[in-house]
Amino acid sequence: MASGASLLAAVLGLVIASAPVTRSWSTEGHMLTCQIAQGLLEPAAAHAVKNLLPEEAGGDLSALCVWPDQVRHWYKYQWTSPLHFIDTPDNACSFVYSRDCHDPSGSKDMCVAGAIANFTSQLMHYKQGSADRKYNLTEALLFLSHFMGDVHQPMHVGFTSDQGGNAVNLRWFKHKSNLHHVWDREIILTTLAENYGKDMDAFRKDLEHNITKGTWSDDMSSWKDCTDLTSCPTKYATESIDLACKWGYNSVHEGDTLSDDYFGSRLPIVTQRIAQGGVRLAMFLNRVFGKHKRDAAAPLHLAADDEL
Ligand code: ZN
Ligand code: ZN
Repeated sequence: MASGASLLAAVLGLVIASAPVTRSWSTEGHMLTCQIAQGLLEPAAAHAVKNLLPEEAGGDLSALCVWPDQVRHWYKYQWTSPLHFIDTPDNACSFVYSRDCHDPSGSKDMCVAGAIANFTSQLMHYKQGSADRKYNLTEALLFLSHFMGDVHQPMHVGFTSDQGGNAVNLRWFKHKSNLHHVWDREIILTTLAENYGKDMDAFRKDLEHNITKGTWSDDMSSWKDCTDLTSCPTKYATESIDLACKWGYNSVHEGDTLSDDYFGSRLPIVTQRIAQGGVRLAMFLNRVFGKHKRDAAAPLHLAADDEL
């Protein structure tokens, strides 16, 4: 929690003290999604992304993919905190946008699916060249890239009463954890340690190989199916709650110890979701910044435009 940036903010008095539950796909998950996406960009989108990234990123989108997690508790960005996830009714195992996409006070569109649609719409202004001062397109790029990762983490579209598994305390092999954290981080860190000698590049290359020539090469074009960029996030969130019910919550109870069986059977889901997030983020950025005319006039009716 005490990153250098948030510590600085605390010193400046910008942070309202709290001990927030962790609600994000891990650093590693986000970085992998963004690295995979950046590798799949067409020239126009690659150019726009480099143009929008701040200098300190060195042209690397993944360097700032976790930025939205670092600022979500700052006073200025507190409104973004509900945008990382969706709470659905316990055991309903469905996502209904009009029912579920709101923040705790009921503000509509304030969830991860609404946020992706909103920041996508904002980024359309880049190609239109309208340079509308109302939008900070660098922030919009970072938010879109981050939330595309979050919406693919199945437990980010979880049940309301246990906060997407955060309240389901259990053990991961020998140490204490919770069900949400298992899906954010534990499975990824365990495979990195067990199968890749903690080498992130080797893990990423394996995922990229499976996208282009391996396990998922036949599925990749269907992952990219999307007629309307603003409604496709609903599809991704629906996939997530479906996976959360079938593979996340299924037969897991408070106090359980999860180990080899759970790890082995869930790892393929986690890796596929990271890969799908990357492929779909690239598809979004290629269409937002590319020459696909049909996306030029996306509807702009979502909330939070005025808060940046
Ligand atoms: Zn997040
Ligand atoms: Zn999370």
